[in-house]
Amino acid sequence: MLTSLRTIFQEVNSARSLPEVLTIIVKEVRSEMNAGVCSVYLFDESDARYVLMATEGLREESIGKVRLSSKEGLVGLVAHKEEPLNLPDADQHPSFAYFEETGESPFHSFLGVPIIHHRRVLGVLVLQQENRRRFAAEEEAFAVTVCAQLSGAIAHAGATGALRQFASAGRGKSREAKFSGIGSSPGVGVGQLTSIAVGSDLKNVPDRFSDDPKLEIRNFRKALKATKQDMISLNIGFKKRLSAEEFALFDVYVRLLDDQVIINEVLEIIKKGKAATSAWSLTVMAHIRTFQRMEDPYLRERATDIHDLGKRVLNHLQASNHDATPLPRKIVLVGEDLAATAFADIPIDRLVGIISLKGSRNSHLAIVARALGIPTVMGAVNFPWAELEAQEVIVDGSHGKIISRATRSTRRQYLQRRREEKSFNKDLERVRNLPCKTLDNSRFALWVNTGLRQDIARSVKSSADAVGLFRTEIPFFSRSSFPTEDEQIEIYREQLAAFSPRAVTMRTLDIGGDKDLPYFPIEEENPFLGWRGIRISLDHPEIFLVQIRAMLRASEGIDNLRIMLPMISNLPELTSAQKLIDRAYSELTQEEGYQIKRPLIGAMVEVPAAVYQVKEIARRVDFLSVGTNDLTQYLLAVDRNNERVADLYHHLHPSVLIALMNIFKQASSSGCHVSICGEMAGDPLSAVLLVGLGYDTLSMSAGSLLRVKSMLLNITKTEARVLARKALKMDSAENVVNYLESALGRPQIAQLLKS
Ligand code: PEP
Ligand code: MG
Repeated sequence: MLTSLRTIFQEVNSARSLPEVLTIIVKEVRSEMNAGVCSVYLFDESDARYVLMATEGLREESIGKVRLSSKEGLVGLVAHKEEPLNLPDADQHPSFAYFEETGESPFHSFLGVPIIHHRRVLGVLVLQQENRRRFAAEEEAFAVTVCAQLSGAIAHAGATGALRQFASAGRGKSREAKFSGIGSSPGVGVGQLTSIAVGSDLKNVPDRFSDDPKLEIRNFRKALKATKQDMISLNIGFKKRLSAEEFALFDVYVRLLDDQVIINEVLEIIKKGKAATSAWSLTVMAHIRTFQRMEDPYLRERATDIHDLGKRVLNHLQASNHDATPLPRKIVLVGEDLAATAFADIPIDRLVGIISLKGSRNSHLAIVARALGIPTVMGAVNFPWAELEAQEVIVDGSHGKIISRATRSTRRQYLQRRREEKSFNKDLERVRNLPCKTLDNSRFALWVNTGLRQDIARSVKSSADAVGLFRTEIPFFSRSSFPTEDEQIEIYREQLAAFSPRAVTMRTLDIGGDKDLPYFPIEEENPFLGWRGIRISLDHPEIFLVQIRAMLRASEGIDNLRIMLPMISNLPELTSAQKLIDRAYSELTQEEGYQIKRPLIGAMVEVPAAVYQVKEIARRVDFLSVGTNDLTQYLLAVDRNNERVADLYHHLHPSVLIALMNIFKQASSSGCHVSICGEMAGDPLSAVLLVGLGYDTLSMSAGSLLRVKSMLLNITKTEARVLARKALKMDSAENVVNYLESALGRPQIAQLLKS
């Protein structure tokens, strides 16, 4: 049964649409369980009923027609109770409902299993038998396993519109639809859905048509040739390092690219009107499925090779499309799993919105989007972007909503909201030049986080007293290799000069986690617990030293540099990094004659280990800064980049607050200044608590600065202390939020808390 589960799962994973997913499930499960009928009912939100979506054993005509309300029939009962129902005499059950069109009269036994995804009942899987018997416990367990494993795939594929297809019969295809995700950068953006497809997977290729089959065929042949060329170059490069057997695999690859059966299948599909990318992915996915079904484990493994080869050809095809298609004027960038590196591929001045199916509010993509003020929805797992590509969509980054095919009135409402937001932001300008003091005259400092070049002007204009965090890895994204020392000097000098005489805190390279450089890929099972930040810098002193030298040389004559070390999890890491910095400094000043002021050197506290060693770290550095983004993920064991657990990620979790209190106490008792540079600092509610805990310096995206300032100007430090003291004793993040919202919900503050 395990083998068949794996086969079903693999097949479902390579299916391209909901009907395909469901057909595979009902066919395979019925045959595996030797049942008379296997059907899937899914919940249709538009009329709150369960619709028969696929069946093996009932009449095909009943698909889409049989509909049960949420408490009707045995299907409704299973969904309502959220547990399996196993009956030998289903027709005797008081909830039994008979639908003539299904032709189900001869079936007596019934097994219904709910399909639940993220606590939400998506539908019910039903098995039926002619004879009166209970399904065996193992059969029930098998069906439960199938449903649990496949609910994610169903939820994802569900958004491709198959359910709406039935639901909207007679109501026209161009219905407005709303999709949900995680609101990750506030504001409303209206633009054309655009993907930077290069690098995407075969099964996510949009189903595109083309009027020019000749051009498609030419592109296809070119892509095959280019892939072959790649393989030959790889082949030459690896020749010495591979065994004869491994080497033979390359030959198989190259021969596959000449396989006339595959090529002809693709050409046939193109001639019927499909774009080359779609034809290629359809053909290759079908071949992958065939291999995955094979009994022989060696042949089954070959599915991976075909997949790899398929992706290589696809990348070439997409690259030629990307060059050929002009980008729209207003871009809503969309992708399966966009990373911050995406900013390197898109003209930022045309970017009005971002949608990523994976990722969460604290992914680096979202952080950079907030810095740029681009409305963003992350974790929009059910957004059918392939189906909607090139259409206009509305991105509501404040509430995590995406609207496609918006009606006129919806569009009007959103444009109105955008105007209101703009005027509110304009209103906030009045606090820009006010001194940073609470109502009881306690001083605080607001610093800014930077990274992108496009962000410099906005940040310089902000009333920030300094740069609290310059993420140096961001300028590394848009290149094809590590920048040279001179190239880095140019980047750093631009920052230092722009903010002078204000201090600029440059963090040394913090790659890894969700920040992979295109030219330095790191493949890891668990990247946030892996090779990240300072760990990479210490393992590659040649990269680290070039960066430090560039920072130091860039600061000559400007003298406003501070250097900060990320991801410090033990003291030897800190001292090794300091030694390298000392070495670079003395080489430059004593051997090479540069006149450089010695910069302050600080460390980030963002790993729980550092929380417990704050005193020891504080003794060795000039300053500390708390990275609450990582600290929250590590303290709560919640991947900051994973949309599935996004609800559990909360920087107002009482444990995070207690850690922050301890960090402040320990650092202060050691006489070391400590600031906050995680996203928490840019959230007005949290900013109050941070001030209440004692922090007087908060570093945030330029876009959050005036909101936070406006909030802090309206409270007293005494009040903030009381709020913090109470919040520390609360039992959940929700209670902290509710408490703060009601305590601070004064009319002049309420608007600040809205977005
Ligand atoms: C943090 O972890 O809070 C931080 C500021 O660094 P980053 O978000 O770049 O990991
Ligand atoms: Mg961090």
